[in-house]
Parts: sequence; structure tokens; C-alpha cells
Amino acid sequence: MSKKDLKSLTLEELTSEVTSLGEKPFRARQLYQWMHRNLARSFGEMTNLPGAFRETLRDRYIYTSHTLVERHISALDGTEKYLFGLADGNVIESVLMRYHFGNSVCISSQVGCRMGCRFCASTIGGLTRNLLPSEMLDQVYSIQRITGERVSHVVVMGTGEPLDNYDNLLRFIKLLSDENGLHLGQRNLTVSTCGLPDKIRSLAGEQLQITLALSLHAPSQEKRKLLMPVAYKYDLSDVLDACRYYFEQTGRRMTFEYSLVGGINDAPEDAKLLAKLLHGWNCHINLIPVNPIEERDYVQSGQHTILTFKNILEKCGMNATVRREMGRDISGACGQLRKGYLNESCPFSGTMIK
Ligand code: SAH
Repeated sequence: MSKKDLKSLTLEELTSEVTSLGEKPFRARQLYQWMHRNLARSFGEMTNLPGAFRETLRDRYIYTSHTLVERHISALDGTEKYLFGLADGNVIESVLMRYHFGNSVCISSQVGCRMGCRFCASTIGGLTRNLLPSEMLDQVYSIQRITGERVSHVVVMGTGEPLDNYDNLLRFIKLLSDENGLHLGQRNLTVSTCGLPDKIRSLAGEQLQITLALSLHAPSQEKRKLLMPVAYKYDLSDVLDACRYYFEQTGRRMTFEYSLVGGINDAPEDAKLLAKLLHGWNCHINLIPVNPIEERDYVQSGQHTILTFKNILEKCGMNATVRREMGRDISGACGQLRKGYLNESCPFSGTMIK
């Protein structure tokens, strides 16, 4: 039987594991506190647990902990980008952004991605594997430990499609917001998806207070297909129906992300169509000037084009902002840091969406 991953267990599950080892239930609470409050990197740090108990845990369970491979700090705005090494040798990327409202960490949900969005660096090598709930938590925990500053917001917008790793994502959300752990408010947690309708509907039924962000990127099904292969699998109307259902069930205002790609989806006509498509929605549109990647010849829209696009949306009564670029000096878009590292160090392959 494969070993269980301790840091991915709920307090209840941990209690039944610990008592099955013949220990008192309060040991489970202590252990949980070491993992999710004190953010211990190893059993060695858990000084109030008996040595023999720690030995047993070491033998019988997996205890995940990242190694720090690279850390880059922006001289411009204090943004930090991290490359973490996992136990199996894979590397993942996480970002810390400092805002006036607190520290926000952007985490990866998979090693690689199989969704294939044309402008995204994370998907170029396909999917290697899902991240465990503990491996998602470790990104937040490591950054809080390293900086000594509280993480107040988390966005699941790094490498990977979170809803393609649904069960682990859910566990991650529950552990991160658990009052016995870091207790991050679910309203401070955003999950971004390329739009898997069945999974969005499931998520709507989970009684969560998180914000859902849909990567829309186009005002029509036809244009969406040019940028996102996932659009061949799911029609835009199905995706939006699922989002509407999410809003009805949770009452949470949706965010729509729209990466502006020069000459592809940034014309005034696109803005008008987008306003028409989202007319009547209680939503926020986040415009992201595309971050050009080496492997594709997409270009960023000019400043004037971006502002015109935003103005049209606003004139149509939509709530829209342009995402401020953070950490410009420390390697650009989603997945680029990891990709640069892999190109230099090891071969890499994975699977793509069918
Ligand atoms: N798979 C999820 C989350 C990861 S990507 C999703 O699709 O939403 C997070 C956001 O960054 C998505 O909106 C994605 O489309 C966008 N993105 C990825 N690469 C980008 C790039 N080079 N420039 C601008 N936005 C990019």
C-alpha cells in the first residue's frame, strides 16, 4: 500500500491515523499545528512530539517539503518569484506580490498543463503530473516562512489548470482556510480556470466562498478557438451557463480574465462584442496585456489600444481594470521562469488535452 501524505489529511483524518498508531488524539492536534500553523519543514522541528512517535511517522508517511531552487526579487515593486523543487525532482513556480491590502501568493496547481492555450508558456511541455494538496500548501507555507510576512491572499493562477486537479484543489482550499491552520479567508482566495463546465458546476455545490475567475480571452466561440484549444471541447455558451450557475449558487461575483493579444482580440469591435456577451452580469473584467513568450509571435497591444478597449467596456457599463504588470524585471509571464530553468537543466515532456 502506498504511503499516505500527512500534510494533505484533515484534522479528523489525522486524528484517526494517529489513534490507530496507539497515540492519544491530542497528538494529532499537535502534529496538525506543527504542519499547518508553525509550518514545520520536517519532523525534526516538532520538538514536543516524542522521538519514537516522530520515527514512526517518518517511516510510515510521506511528509512533503519544498527545496528552494531560485528566488528572484524585483527591484521595481518587491514582487518575488520562486522556483521550488519537489521530492521527485520536478520544479514549480510561485509568485509573491505585495499590495496595499496585503501579500498575495500565486501558486501552481500542476506540474505543467495540458490545456494548450496558445500564448501561455506553462503548457508548452504538456502535463507532467498533478500537485498534491500538500504541495500546493507548501508554496504558500514556504513563502510565508522565507519572508516572515503573513500571506493574506492566494490566487491559483500559476502553472496548471486547477479544475483539472479538482479533488486535490478542494482539499487544498479546505486545509488553507481551516481555522486550525493558516485560516486564510475563502473570500481571499481566487481560482482561475480556462473553463471546464462540469467542474465549475461541481464547484458551485461545494459551499465555498472563493472567487472564481474565468479565462475568457475572446468575445466569441470562434475567436476563442484561435487562442484556447479547450474551446474545441466546450462551447462558450456551455461555459458561461456554468458560470451563471456558479453565481446563482454562491452569490459570488465572477471575474473574467481577458488577455489582450495584439491584432487578435484587441479591436474596438471585440470590446463591443465582449460588453454585449457579458451584458447584465455582476462581474469584473480583468484585462491582461499579453506577456509575449519566445515560442509564439504574439505581441502586446499598444497602450492606446488597451485604453480604448477598456473605455469601450466602461461606456457599456462594465466594470473593467487593466492588470498592473508586477515584477517586470524578474522574468515575465506565467511559467516562463520554470521553462527557462528546464531548458537549461533537464529534458521534459508530458501529455496534452485530447
Ligand atoms: N489554467 C488556469 C490558470 C492558470 S493561467 C486558467 O486558464 O485560468 C492564469 C491566467 O494567466 C489565465 O487567464 C491565463 O490565460 C493567463 N496567461 C497565461 N499566459 C499568459 C501570457 N503569456 N500573457 C498574458 N496572460 C497569460
